[in-house]
Amino acid sequence: MPELPEVETTRRRLAPLLVGRTVAEVRTTRPSYFFLTPPFRLRRALAGRRVERLERRGKYLIGALDDGGRLVLHLGMTGQLFSSAATSHRLLRVADRAILGPEEQRRFAPDRHTHLRLRFRDAGPEVWMRDARKFGKVLWLAPGEESERLDRLGTDALAATGALLFAATRGRVVAIKSLLLDQAVIAGVGNIYADEALFGAGVRPTRRAGRVSRTECERIARELRCVLERSIETGGSSISDYLAPDGADGTYQDERRVYARAGEPCPRCGTCLRRVVLGQRSAHYCPRCQC
Ligand SMILES: [Zn+2]
Repeated sequence: MPELPEVETTRRRLAPLLVGRTVAEVRTTRPSYFFLTPPFRLRRALAGRRVERLERRGKYLIGALDDGGRLVLHLGMTGQLFSSAATSHRLLRVADRAILGPEEQRRFAPDRHTHLRLRFRDAGPEVWMRDARKFGKVLWLAPGEESERLDRLGTDALAATGALLFAATRGRVVAIKSLLLDQAVIAGVGNIYADEALFGAGVRPTRRAGRVSRTECERIARELRCVLERSIETGGSSISDYLAPDGADGTYQDERRVYARAGEPCPRCGTCLRRVVLGQRSAHYCPRCQC
């Protein structure tokens, strides 16, 4: 699932493809739960609008439009947002990868999962949003319209401090990792980076949030910023369906110390890394370095 670094990487690489360009036409697939704003309204609202800025809040991308409206995009689990000029074999289904030759694999034509296609007046590359599982979201907000989805987001993970985390954990019996994943507390943290930050801070993911000390909260916040910034630098983690708008792969997955490494030796002490299930998601940790 794309997390903050992947969404931020998408924002940085997508911005030059969107900002300053005027939408000529919007093409969509049929109405579905992917569209929080019905396709017919989306087509009407976006045609003729120029994108002024592309911002990020947590895992949401927000295109500010010249009339004050906003186009809100969320990648969900398998969403892909990219240029029609992008080339990547990751855009193909596994079955196609198996039959097509390497050169054919680079071409991608919009398929039934390509739910949103923005064509621009300058006739340059289009911007496409594809999502095989449709957990992604597209929402248009009229000028001045508020959004509960955006309003309920906590502090962006890149700006989270130890003091904020300490205040949010007091009296809480939930596991510290579950609290880190709560988007109303800190926006943008997902499974990979929560596990990595807790490893860096030496705090076990299952510990009650209320039992994490002020110093540990400082360490967790610092580690969180470090792993997120490092991941943004490397273009995010290319696991599952995530790909950057230009089709390039990120390489952060090669730097993971604990995430999805259960059974391997801890990079710090050599103890066998463990995996536990916590709130329907797996957490990875070192039983010796993290208490
Ligand atoms: Zn260890």
